[in-house]
Amino acid sequence: MDQEKIIIIGGGLNGLFSGAILAREGFDVSVFEKDNVPGGSLREFQREGVSFETGIHAVGAFRPGEAMYRLFNYLKIWNKLDLLPVDPRYTEIYRVGKEEYCFPRGKEQLVSMLMEEFPAQGEDIRRYFDALYKLSEESQLHDLRMPSPRARSYGLTWSAGKLIDAFLRDDDTRNMLALRSALYAGEQYKTPAYLHALANKMYTDGTARFIGGSQQLATALVGAITSNGGKVYTGRGIKRVEISGNQVDHVVSTDGRQHRAARYIMAIDPLSMLDIVDRGKLQPACLQQIEALTPNYSTFTLFIILQPGAFSFFNHARGYVESLDDAWGQVKCKRRDWPRGLTCSTPPETIRDRYARKMVVDCVMSFKQVKRWEHTVTGSRPKSYQTFKHLQEEAVIKMLERVFPDIRPCIQSVYSATPLTFRDYCNRKGGSVYGFKQQAGQPEFARLSAGAGLDNLLLVGQNDHLHGTLVTPVSVIEACAELVGLDYLLKRINE
Ligand SMILES: Cc1cc2nc3c(=O)[nH]c(=O)nc-3n(C[C@H](O)[C@H](O)[C@H](O)COP(=O)(O)OP(=O)(O)OC[C@H]3O[C@@H](n4cnc5c(N)ncnc54)[C@H](O)[C@@H]3O)c2cc1C
Repeated sequence: MDQEKIIIIGGGLNGLFSGAILAREGFDVSVFEKDNVPGGSLREFQREGVSFETGIHAVGAFRPGEAMYRLFNYLKIWNKLDLLPVDPRYTEIYRVGKEEYCFPRGKEQLVSMLMEEFPAQGEDIRRYFDALYKLSEESQLHDLRMPSPRARSYGLTWSAGKLIDAFLRDDDTRNMLALRSALYAGEQYKTPAYLHALANKMYTDGTARFIGGSQQLATALVGAITSNGGKVYTGRGIKRVEISGNQVDHVVSTDGRQHRAARYIMAIDPLSMLDIVDRGKLQPACLQQIEALTPNYSTFTLFIILQPGAFSFFNHARGYVESLDDAWGQVKCKRRDWPRGLTCSTPPETIRDRYARKMVVDCVMSFKQVKRWEHTVTGSRPKSYQTFKHLQEEAVIKMLERVFPDIRPCIQSVYSATPLTFRDYCNRKGGSVYGFKQQAGQPEFARLSAGAGLDNLLLVGQNDHLHGTLVTPVSVIEACAELVGLDYLLKRINE
């Protein structure tokens, strides 16, 4: 029997996951990736012989029995991944001004820590976490379980801020529970409560980091595709998607060749997709929904090379804000107040690093801050942009010194990426790191469904507010289920 041919546009996390699942299920898969190296935000780059991850620093649900573990296992790539779980004693340490708060792994442990810190709030803290976990469990597909027909409760209509306010009366406790909002660019009264719940659950349950970098996941997924007969073409972007009637007829790659398939999966930013399709041939409702998407915040990232043997490795995330009042303020801050907070980590190179050779520091940044250079491209940006970068680098290092007062002499060199870098690197409008903005109470701005209004085109990837491995179980599984059936696919993965 002829295998059904599938073309996947974009070889990032979600394009590769889709390709690996469909190749395993017997489809004839071809992935087209515009860059010479597959992986998108999983890619790494080298500076002075030190390798840095571009995007994904942390993965959740990786323990035996959990969602990503089951998916890795089903794809037979689990034993190809080298993961280091973050320290369970403190998955994150937040410095707030001069105070330090250590968040331990596990719901009960975190609740106890917070109850000790804020005794007056007592059981309200536990009730809040119970509600948070209940909300996150409503999205059964995130756990790769068959969704029940029961509609979501208030997770889409309530905002993250409203959820916190409903359970806690004290402002400091409320802000403390918002400290993680920088990790998913949450907005107090905009981000739907269920997104806040999913992200918080992931960090509370504990994440892991790739020993030696995130490219290994891309390599493992490419291996899963090719070992099942699929192909991954790198350095070959798709420059046109030709639509005829209600179908994609063929796609044209950057080398001018035409490629035809029974089905197409678009694993790139949906707004960038509009640059390669004839908008007039998309269903008006679908076009309107895509055009209404607002890219979420981006980040200014500092890639620091540390002097060998000078700075101790730490196996958790560190965060900083000047005061608890800034917990929600990092996304909204004005240019002159930037940055209002940071998160940083020392990515592991071996299982037992004593010293760190590198550090990655992220500060949420709006695209507006770099908009004046939006018509420039990497490699030929003007001097004013370089000056801007140096000023921001210095501002971030000054803030970093409040977390690590002795860090400056340990720094060998510094490189940085702005929202423009992320825009150009991954072809994502606005350089968005976390998909698109969502507005609590306005479900029409919720995620796009897998169908794009064309019979043979499916969308996967960051068409949600969520990032990384939180998106994959829903967007990729929904799209692949269109081809093999959801019940069947979930049974195969959970077998
Ligand atoms: C700084 C940063 C930090 C992050 N931290 C984390 C984290 O700690 N944990 C986490 O889970 N997630 C994190 N994320 C988010 C995560 O990296 C992304 O959500 C995820 O990798 C998105 O995968 P994707 O496949 O949807 O998109 P992408 O990774 O953007 O992949 C899209 C791919 O499509 C290619 N492409 C674009 N246009 C075309 C075309 N026309 N033809 C062919 N190919 C094309 C691009 O080159 C790219 O390879 C972070 C992201 C960034 C940028």
